[in-house]
Amino acid sequence: MFHIKPRTIVLKAIPKLQKSISSTQTCQSNHKLSSFLEAAKMPEKKLRKLVFPFEDLERHLSSKVNMSNFQLFQPRFEDIKRAEMFFTPSKKHKIDYFTSAVRMDHAPLITQSEVCFIGRSNVGKSTLIKALFSLVPETEVRVSKTPGHTKKMNFFTVGKAFTLVDMPGYGYKAPKDFVDMVETYLETRHNLKRTFLLVDGSIGLQHADKIAIDMCEEFGLPYVLVITKIDKAKQGELLRHILEVQEVIQNHTVGCFPQPFLVSSLHYSGVYLLRCFIAHVTGNLKLEPS
Ligand code: GDP
Repeated sequence: MFHIKPRTIVLKAIPKLQKSISSTQTCQSNHKLSSFLEAAKMPEKKLRKLVFPFEDLERHLSSKVNMSNFQLFQPRFEDIKRAEMFFTPSKKHKIDYFTSAVRMDHAPLITQSEVCFIGRSNVGKSTLIKALFSLVPETEVRVSKTPGHTKKMNFFTVGKAFTLVDMPGYGYKAPKDFVDMVETYLETRHNLKRTFLLVDGSIGLQHADKIAIDMCEEFGLPYVLVITKIDKAKQGELLRHILEVQEVIQNHTVGCFPQPFLVSSLHYSGVYLLRCFIAHVTGNLKLEPS
């Protein structure tokens, strides 16, 4: 079962904030940008902001903040372009919804690498998975949202490269059978290469997120924190939330990748980098030394 450990989170540095940083509240995703090849037509400076969203934020941070951990995964644009091939369907590389399971003994037995996405309900998980799969025609990848229905694990196959699992969203009152399903999956899935735990960047770390972090730690999983909706919060607020996440990673975790990934599924910021990281951790992308 989850352990609830009360934790005090202390912000290490106060961000140097510009006074009038506004939030962007656009709720339309920009489909032109869903492909890196399309995005790559924009001027390099703009493209870098989209690919590495932290670069745009770091100028607001005090020099006392150690920024190196935010930039550990720094693939070249060529690597990002190669990674995108895994998210682009073709005759030989089918990307499709595969199956759903409500219990682990219904989960498909697969040997290929797997990654899973977990997070509180409303954290932006379905929207992010849709953004990751935006190069696949709508009809093929169905990221279903059925509030009130049985919570299921949804499996998507990405050719022979890997499987992506959309785990049901959790909340404070997760029923026991649901908790058992998630825990059993995380604890027993041998082909699971990485767990992506989503945190809402517009509201910051919540109690349920900390419980999920404790669970990943307890199972000794390699996992990554993904900060969603970075377009939604005011930048000062977003930075505070990011630093809080960073503090928790640095001082309270062992299995978490030190770099949190920042994404906006509406603007595609950080989405290409995340695609590249997934291709990398599933063993599909040999990164060229830069
Ligand atoms: P889920 O319950 O975790 O699958 O959450 P959803 O993907 O359904 O997202 C919950 C709400 O957040 C929806 O209203 C989405 O439109 C919104 N949302 C998701 N991602 C983003 C984002 O990147 N930016 C903004 N501004 N809103 C988002």
